[in-house]
Amino acid sequence: MNEIFLMKLGEIVLKGGNKRQFETKLRQNVRRRMKPYGDFDVYIMQSTVYVEPKNGEADVEGAWEACHSIFGVVSLCRCRPCGKDLDSIFNAVEEYLGDDLDIAESFKVESKRSDKQFPMTSIAISQEIGGRLAEAHPDCRVDVHHPAYTVYVEVRDLAAYVHGPAEPGAGGLPTGVGGRAMCLLSGGIDSPVAAYMIAKRGVEIECVHFFSYPYTSQLAKDKVMELARLVTRYSGRMTVNVVSFTEIQEAIRDNCPEEYFTLIMRRFMMEISQRIARRDGCEALITGENLGQVASQTMQAMAVTGAVVDMPIFMPLVGMDKEEIVTIARKIGTLETSILPYEDCCTVFTPKHPKTKPTLGQVMHAEEKLDREALITAALENVEKITVKYHDEAGM
Ligand code: ATP
Ligand code: MG
Repeated sequence: MNEIFLMKLGEIVLKGGNKRQFETKLRQNVRRRMKPYGDFDVYIMQSTVYVEPKNGEADVEGAWEACHSIFGVVSLCRCRPCGKDLDSIFNAVEEYLGDDLDIAESFKVESKRSDKQFPMTSIAISQEIGGRLAEAHPDCRVDVHHPAYTVYVEVRDLAAYVHGPAEPGAGGLPTGVGGRAMCLLSGGIDSPVAAYMIAKRGVEIECVHFFSYPYTSQLAKDKVMELARLVTRYSGRMTVNVVSFTEIQEAIRDNCPEEYFTLIMRRFMMEISQRIARRDGCEALITGENLGQVASQTMQAMAVTGAVVDMPIFMPLVGMDKEEIVTIARKIGTLETSILPYEDCCTVFTPKHPKTKPTLGQVMHAEEKLDREALITAALENVEKITVKYHDEAGM
């Protein structure tokens, strides 16, 4: 094999006693993520994940791309393994990175020696390889302070590895080390970003989506499923619980004062989400709420909506500006889908003058005529569970 990926672990390294558990999870996650791309060996040694194609049939480019969205990895690089002697190291650099050196203005060699049996120090390796490379590439001068290009040499237990600059990984913690949470996923910009941010902290994600057919269309639902799929690129496969909300919205419209429509509706969403979450082993709810963005996102409104549940509610976007949220949405690839112009059930029966500073007493009074329990039970009886994965054909 002449190319492998090395991925450096992030915060995991700091986790002391939990380190082994974190590494096991990460290894499982990487193995699962590599499946669609062929046969790969995945192992962890010295705080580094090794991903090695087992044969020439593997889709190395696809695998490399996929490695950038695995949480728990801070940086990654493609390398050429070689024998642990200076001639092999030099030849590997020449073959693998020679073209890069030809076009660079300056370079340096940085070496690391985790095999302490190796007879030379890191500095001596760098000097020796650097000297030979300088001779081979007379137009590329050595500059140890501000090199245009850095050649890395790592002498590890099994082999030596040479590579160019590493790329940033997805960061965060390996999926599955932080429990499981239920994200209320709409078709907007915010909630997919919220799901991504909590997933990044090692949390497995499940979603719930409320739709109000025929007030909202099949296209609107398809859009949400596509957003969920885009999030699975990072979070791994997930279940989306699709809940029909039509009956509840009509009951609210027919029985409650208009200025409270949105608040009452959101209280139903929270309560139904919590019940599905409990059933499925989730221990927190996630929403894309953002302070001050709309009438239902004032502190007072959040207090009233949050009052129907007792699980923690994670709102990772609460203090961000729209522009910051949009930047993340663009980065993770959900923005284009989010801005497709389909209606959301929140925009059905929107009050003209929503209450922005409600008290819990007022809202409870406004929903008095509803049989909350009956409506919730009915909604829970018809939850459609859909499994979403990034690749249809494989087991991600
Ligand atoms: P988003 O961009 O995520 O839709 P938003 O700014 O439009 O957010 P709201 O429509 O007030 O805000 O919704 C606030 C949060 O409530 C959303 O971020 C999402 O977590 C949840 N939510 C809203 N509509 C739905 C829905 N139809 N199904 C599931 N969750 C929803
Ligand atoms: Mg919305």
